[in-house]
Amino acid sequence: MTLFRNFPGKISPWKPEDPPAVPGIHKGARILIIGGGISGSALYYHLARLSKKHDHPIEVQLVSTSTCNYCGGLMTSLAYQTLQNLYDYTIAPPVVLTLIKEGIYLNQCGAVRLKLYPPMISMLRTDRFGETGFDGAFKQYVKEKVKLPGFIIHEKARALEGEVPTLHTPGWVLVTGSEWEKKIEADYIIIASGLNSLSQPFIQSLAKQTHYVPPRLMPASVTELNLTGLDYSAIDNCVAIIDNLLPQCAVGIISKRPGWVTLTALNREITLEDLEKLFSHPQVRQLIEVDKMAERLRCHMVCRAPLGIGQAKNYLNQRTLFIGDLNGYVRVFKDGYTHALQQAYAAGHELFYHAWQPAQFNKTWNLKYAGIKRDNRWGRVLFWLNGILAGFKFLQRKRLEAVREELAHQGHRRVSLALKSLFTGEVSYQKRRFRNSCGMIV
Ligand SMILES: Cc1cc2nc3c(=O)[nH]c(=O)nc-3n(C[C@H](O)[C@H](O)[C@H](O)COP(=O)(O)OP(=O)(O)OC[C@H]3O[C@@H](n4cnc5c(N)ncnc54)[C@H](O)[C@@H]3O)c2cc1C
Repeated sequence: MTLFRNFPGKISPWKPEDPPAVPGIHKGARILIIGGGISGSALYYHLARLSKKHDHPIEVQLVSTSTCNYCGGLMTSLAYQTLQNLYDYTIAPPVVLTLIKEGIYLNQCGAVRLKLYPPMISMLRTDRFGETGFDGAFKQYVKEKVKLPGFIIHEKARALEGEVPTLHTPGWVLVTGSEWEKKIEADYIIIASGLNSLSQPFIQSLAKQTHYVPPRLMPASVTELNLTGLDYSAIDNCVAIIDNLLPQCAVGIISKRPGWVTLTALNREITLEDLEKLFSHPQVRQLIEVDKMAERLRCHMVCRAPLGIGQAKNYLNQRTLFIGDLNGYVRVFKDGYTHALQQAYAAGHELFYHAWQPAQFNKTWNLKYAGIKRDNRWGRVLFWLNGILAGFKFLQRKRLEAVREELAHQGHRRVSLALKSLFTGEVSYQKRRFRNSCGMIV
């Protein structure tokens, strides 16, 4: 195990470094943020705070269009703490749909249940079905907090085309609202438009201008299921991971409200037939019996939701920066919120104090995220390895037995802690998932 001595174990809430005394960005600098998801809104808020703190006026415009992004929405305690530490924001009750207090791990040989403490928050990502989503609530908070001249949010507006700024010439972006269209000039552009935007010609054109290369993507799917009329008590307030019952695919089921769950599938674009196959598996039926699958899809469809599993390249080009999911410095398979929030903070800090000066940027950004890059390699390897080992039934049984044994007795909890960390994301892949793999064999 000495090989792993230098790797981080527990993932802790990120603490910013002490800032320099004076801003590095020029007064009146024009900054344009494209995308009002979590990272765009957080960056807008952070820049406003810095501008106010130093009495250093800058102009920041946020272009924000809304898309159907409501599925998913599991907030870990790390993301919750990051929101409080970096943005003084506490999630308000209307956003919390349920608290997730238990994790269920299920494979072809059976299931085990693990208590999750602190609980995680289940919510919608964006507003839908009359419920307030997390992105919307956070943006509302940002709007209420930021009342500075020069700070503008263009709601229901879409960036359509543009040219990136260079060190000597400003860039511009054509933005259209419901009844208006304007060209916004900017000295700095931040693109925080999420992975779905990669198919937009505008984002592709910006990528071409800056030589940006997006993160590698893994196929994934998401949908919401309506379970009313069924006995769903076994998965209420739970998150379940169904490991490789669909080949090379991990399925997550997250309780939302009574009779309502989110289903996500990693490494596969699943179809209705896949879902029928999954829910007809005897191990799944022991947990929950779902009939009439087609009628259970709340949106009558399963959506593609590709997942970044690597880092982007050339995400900083002179005065243009891609952040959030487009940057790719997130831990694969987990906790996108934490990293979107941290990156926005770091991007704002580097812009305001150092005007993205390359040497300084590399020092703070690349060094800060070097650990994540390494950890992600492990995450990918272990995901792949797990898929291979899923073919060996005795190993799957052994893993469950090991957890049951540990839960029944005091002492080392190697495998159960490793499994728990799959749900909570609170420890690094190197440490716990490696132990988890060992746990299947020993
Ligand atoms: C299905 C799914 C489920 C997930 N579940 C979880 C979870 O449970 N827990 C977790 O921690 N993370 C989860 N994630 C990851 C997390 O949602 C992301 O990491 C995080 O939202 C990234 O934020 P972002 O601001 O980079 O991008 P996004 O949240 O995608 O925001 C991008 C915004 O830009 C806007 N936009 C796009 N194009 C334009 C344009 N041309 N002009 C103007 N605006 C534009 C979009 O409408 C959107 O509002 C999930 C992701 C997906 C896809």
